[in-house]
Amino acid sequence: MSTVPQPLASVLPCPLIDRAGPFDPYRVRADFPVLKQSVCGKPLVYLDNAATAQKPRVVIDTLQRYYACENANIHRGVHHLSQIATDAYEGARTRVRHFLNAAQDREIIFVRGTTEGINLVAQTWGRQQVGEGDEILISAMEHHSNIVPWQILCEEKGAKLCVIPINDRGELMLDEYEKRLNGRTRLVSVAHVSNALGTLNPVREIVDLAHRWGVPVLVDGAQAVPHLKVDVRELDCDFYIFSGHKLYGPTGIGVLYGKADLLASMPPYHGGGNMIKSVTFEKTTYADLPNKFEAGTPPIAGGIGLGAAINYLNQVGLDRAAVYEEDLLSCATEALSRIPGLSIIGTAPRKVSVLSFVIEDIHPHDIGTVLDQEGVAVRAGHHCAQPVMQHFGVPATTRAATAFYNTPEDLDALVRGLHKAIEVFR
Ligand code: PLP
Repeated sequence: MSTVPQPLASVLPCPLIDRAGPFDPYRVRADFPVLKQSVCGKPLVYLDNAATAQKPRVVIDTLQRYYACENANIHRGVHHLSQIATDAYEGARTRVRHFLNAAQDREIIFVRGTTEGINLVAQTWGRQQVGEGDEILISAMEHHSNIVPWQILCEEKGAKLCVIPINDRGELMLDEYEKRLNGRTRLVSVAHVSNALGTLNPVREIVDLAHRWGVPVLVDGAQAVPHLKVDVRELDCDFYIFSGHKLYGPTGIGVLYGKADLLASMPPYHGGGNMIKSVTFEKTTYADLPNKFEAGTPPIAGGIGLGAAINYLNQVGLDRAAVYEEDLLSCATEALSRIPGLSIIGTAPRKVSVLSFVIEDIHPHDIGTVLDQEGVAVRAGHHCAQPVMQHFGVPATTRAATAFYNTPEDLDALVRGLHKAIEVFR
């Protein structure tokens, strides 16, 4: 294990790294080529990880090797390359299954990302199961991709979209949740971790309460899987969905996990090649899981790249990284809290990675622009969670979201950049 250099002239209020023990952010950081560059003459500090995470060398190499040496369409070919590509793609499915601790490979459906996964469930399970007067229950902290698909469904079916409120720390109000569960509820669909607030929701409790009413639960895991060990059997959720690109993998690939009996009972989403058993003009019969939901040529390279990302995460050790990330977040929270006029939006005691904030009299976009000039990449806007902004009475926030490759020096750069923004705009 390499020795860990301490940050120089740190403006951070607390020591980092100690508790994470053997986890070495400097060593993992070296695996990410993009982080080695400068922006505006300053070393790049990448804190836009909730939007998308950077890719380790091994993922980039895997994609390169796939296209250079293994490219072929899968499942249907009898030739050598097709078999190699099929094995690699199906091997990635098995890796995802282990990563989520799902019971069977056929419970893992490859999709384009979280957005497509939620739309798939809304348009298949939802269209089959939801009728007039039924209710879909989501929370007030959802990303638009866990709101709009349900609105489309509710409009079509004459069903009602109900919302679990959040409190001023940005926590889901469990007592209000319980009150909203009833005989008309058909589905609960909630984020595991909020992308706008960082709140970590008590998914197991949410699932247990819904199951008492026989209601299935969909979990949007987009912001959880990069930071937490997720066990779908332990959570007992019915659907769990995430995007590969936030998990250090490629864009264009994501995962829908569903319990096998539920997936088997659902009609297909898209029709076409690969999802059929037989086709005549009179009748088509559908393939078994998971192919029934993977019509057409799938994102083969994306799936294989995601498998490489999961392999990499297994080597890094997500559990150890999570301890380090927890320290990083609490240190950053303390540092930002000391900045005059800065308010953190989302102060739940159980949070992951995300620091959303506003600074009095400075627009979040202006903060983002000054930070960019300092080489610090953050996001400014509503983060596709406009109802969250409405709840907190702000048009937008600046969002810094950490990953395990961020270091104390990155946080120093953020804090210094924020002081600079205050200097410039006040
Ligand atoms: N859900 C959450 C909580 C997210 O943060 C995001 C993206 O930021 C999404 C869903 C949508 O993910 P994608 O754009 O990869 O489909």
